[in-house]
Amino acid sequence: MTERKYVYVFGPDGAEGNREMRDLLGGKGANLAEMAHLKLPVPPGFTITTEACRYWLEHGALPPELPKQIHRAMRHLERTMQRHFGHAEYPLLVSVRSGAPVSMPGMMDTILNLGLNHETVEGLVRMTGNLRFAHDCWRRFIAMFADVVLEIDDTYFEDILTQEKRRADVRQDFELTPPEILRVIERSFTLIEEHTERAFPHDPWEQLSLAIEAVFRSWKNPRAIMYREQKRIPEYLGTSVTVQAMVFGNFSNRSGTIVAFTRNPSTGEAQPKGEFLLNAQGEDVVAGVRTPESLEQLAAILPEAHEEFLEVVQRLEKHFGWPQDIEATIEEGHLWLLQTRDAQCEPEAAVKFVVDLAESGALTRTQALLRIDPRELEKIFRERLVQSDDADTIATGIPASTGTAKGYAVFSSEQASAWAHRGIILVREETSAKDLPGMIASRGLLTARGGFTSHAAVVARGMGKPAVVGCSALEFNRNNRTARIGKTIIREGMPITIDGSTGRVFLGLRKTIKPIPPQELFTLLSWADEWCSLEVWANADTPEEAIVAQELGAKGIGLCRTEHMFREENRIPHFQKMILSEYPDERREALAILQKMQKEDFKAMFRTMADKPLTIRLLDPPLHEVLPSLEDLSRRIKQLWKTFRQQEEIVALSAGLHALREEGLAVASRRREIEGKLEEARKVFRRNPQMQQLERMIRRVETLEEANPMLGTRGCRLLINYPEIVEVQTRAIFEAACELVREGLAVQPDIMIPMVSCKEELLFLKEIVSRVASQVMDEQGIRVSWRYGSMIELPAAALSAKELATVAEFFSFGSNDLTQTTLGFSRDDAGPIFALYRERGIHGFDPSESLDPRVEELMTIALQRGRSQNPKLKVGICGEHGGDPRTIEICHKLALDYVSASPYRIPGARIAAAQAAIRGSSHATEEKS
Ligand code: ADP
Ligand code: MG
Ligand code: MG
Repeated sequence: MTERKYVYVFGPDGAEGNREMRDLLGGKGANLAEMAHLKLPVPPGFTITTEACRYWLEHGALPPELPKQIHRAMRHLERTMQRHFGHAEYPLLVSVRSGAPVSMPGMMDTILNLGLNHETVEGLVRMTGNLRFAHDCWRRFIAMFADVVLEIDDTYFEDILTQEKRRADVRQDFELTPPEILRVIERSFTLIEEHTERAFPHDPWEQLSLAIEAVFRSWKNPRAIMYREQKRIPEYLGTSVTVQAMVFGNFSNRSGTIVAFTRNPSTGEAQPKGEFLLNAQGEDVVAGVRTPESLEQLAAILPEAHEEFLEVVQRLEKHFGWPQDIEATIEEGHLWLLQTRDAQCEPEAAVKFVVDLAESGALTRTQALLRIDPRELEKIFRERLVQSDDADTIATGIPASTGTAKGYAVFSSEQASAWAHRGIILVREETSAKDLPGMIASRGLLTARGGFTSHAAVVARGMGKPAVVGCSALEFNRNNRTARIGKTIIREGMPITIDGSTGRVFLGLRKTIKPIPPQELFTLLSWADEWCSLEVWANADTPEEAIVAQELGAKGIGLCRTEHMFREENRIPHFQKMILSEYPDERREALAILQKMQKEDFKAMFRTMADKPLTIRLLDPPLHEVLPSLEDLSRRIKQLWKTFRQQEEIVALSAGLHALREEGLAVASRRREIEGKLEEARKVFRRNPQMQQLERMIRRVETLEEANPMLGTRGCRLLINYPEIVEVQTRAIFEAACELVREGLAVQPDIMIPMVSCKEELLFLKEIVSRVASQVMDEQGIRVSWRYGSMIELPAAALSAKELATVAEFFSFGSNDLTQTTLGFSRDDAGPIFALYRERGIHGFDPSESLDPRVEELMTIALQRGRSQNPKLKVGICGEHGGDPRTIEICHKLALDYVSASPYRIPGARIAAAQAAIRGSSHATEEKS
């Protein structure tokens, strides 16, 4: 039986692995092998597979075949390098590096300069004649090994180094003289002795196997686990280990270390962007100990290495077909590549890049489309600060999630949910799972503690909300009612702005703008349209949103929520009045005002969309969202009474009464007289029309109050209860439509009924809509073609689809409500429940993501039954899921006519629809062949 192969070598003669083998060799190992194939300057080495890691995780020991294979690979490496591992004369030093199949930057551990001990370090000195360098490697190795293998916190070693530098009065590591470095080494050994029972292993082979196991173990360290959870990277993958000959950036002033992108990952500008440090090793650049130099300076100091670097950059980008994130080292003017991986690009940059490549012929348009992550595109439209001066920054924290957010400061999750409609920033010491509802309700997060991997940061990135964390200048006072930044007091409700791209915090609502998308986005979208069979429509409630939707290429409006048209400050009172009216006439009065407003809005929207469909959903507000609260009403009564009491006459009466009380019973009759007058005044107060109205409102709110408003008088139930709403809305729609047709414009009104559960509801309302529509068209002497349709938001509706399709000409899946009613969960309350479920390991569903499979099944049923009744039935989806790529792929397979997404998600949806079509067609050809 042949033994399992756990070790793959790479070097100047090529490699056993290649870029396709990321699952086995990890991203780093696979790409090192690939670069070796390309004959790029890569220090030779070998990669131990993720399979060995999985074995180790399972058995707690290395596979028995492994040591022999490592030995063999090491002998090979020694021959290539002409040096020997553990040899006192020509010592070979290696790095031991982790590498997961999915990039997890900085999450696991790496050890450099392994193979050093008291003897080999002398050999290194003799071999290179560079005492400072050899001791520098020795010092670094001890600290890294102690940190990773012996698990002694590396800050101890940093402290020692800082102290010794101070004592020597130097600022840079490389300025320490050999005796000074020796002191650091001696102190490090003392520290290790104090912290661990284990002696520091001096045998290089023992160092190696301990290091390999430590890298495997680092797969399970808490920050790696947290990262995987956030990124949904499966636990079972495991990491590979790459053992690689060292090259030395800390050798001299003609050496250094580089971290760079092949082009600017934020803007897409086709210029390498990165940093380098002279005479330094490993990730000193990233650690931020010294301020690194720019690549231009590299060109000045080491022009040949820089030249070579530019060439390599070009080749790598071309070969991998994506901007690369590169780690490299220069040793005595020679360039060595240590890592390359696909760069995490801002979406603008990604779009520019793929369009560039496609236009230069390096990619086909189809390939270019497939390269883009549609989820990311929405970020292109994230608000940015208008000016970037930081003159009035009040504090700076860690920029944890990009974008600018402005809103009113709120200190607790409860307040956050209550004030969400005003636009808030959640400000907390730190956050935990309990804060999830508040985080969902807020526009951005600001915390005083925690770093880039803190709960707040991780969750904010997951939700795509701007966040500034670890803002240490922020202090809360004891009762958590106010916070302070320096001298500035921050109270709840105060307006603030945070910039998650730079970590800056400002007082007040700073001006922000939507950036203009790059031209390349529209080019790419035009390519997408060549593929799309599934149309992309928009959810747009206002004329402004309709304009954005139109500009971003919506083929129609799939959802105009008419209740959202009343969100503006000056419209709310009329709206409340309408709902609170007890009698139809009274309601019509309030409606008449609203009708005018709506008509103007509809006109503007028809004008924007022209002959494209505008799907108008008749009123669907959950009552509790519109009604004033009882507390609010009684507060208003108190207020009214206060003003009333301030009338001169009453003040005088009260003062008189007070005086009489002091005098005792002698004047009882006089007292009664005054009391009577006051009582009269109170009666007058109660007859005050304002007061009467308030009292009526209270009675009305009390009658309308529902135990379960989300499952109460919603959607068509409200409309059936108050048919005059339907009349007025229909009138507004058709007056608007007729007036535009008279102007010579085309319009396509689609009228949609929410929360339908049976055919009778649809019929009842259709009768009203048709009657009023004909009336208006007769009055105006104009014909408008229109359609009548039903939302499918209840399992009952999905199951009744065949009957519904006898009345409805179109269906629109309201996937938000359909998900809630299928799973029996309300989105607004689910946060803590799901947090609990995750904790308990219950993973039955995930409402935040794509469609739940059972919702998909209901959709399939509805489609089949609906189309069996009416093959021409037009079907779309208008829930939040309409913009989600996985859902879009499902909708493509189900052969829906359109998906409807909020305006800024339209570009992503168009790309996703194209991707679904491309994948679908390649399956089809595969099946054919
Ligand atoms: P991470 O995954 O955290 O980036 P790496 O394994 O890439 O860890 O190692 C970090 C850094 O250590 C590299 O960027 C490189 O500068 C340095 N390094 C790793 N291996 C070698 C080597 N063989 N020679 C020189 N430097 C190395
Ligand atoms: Mg790296
Ligand atoms: Mg709904």
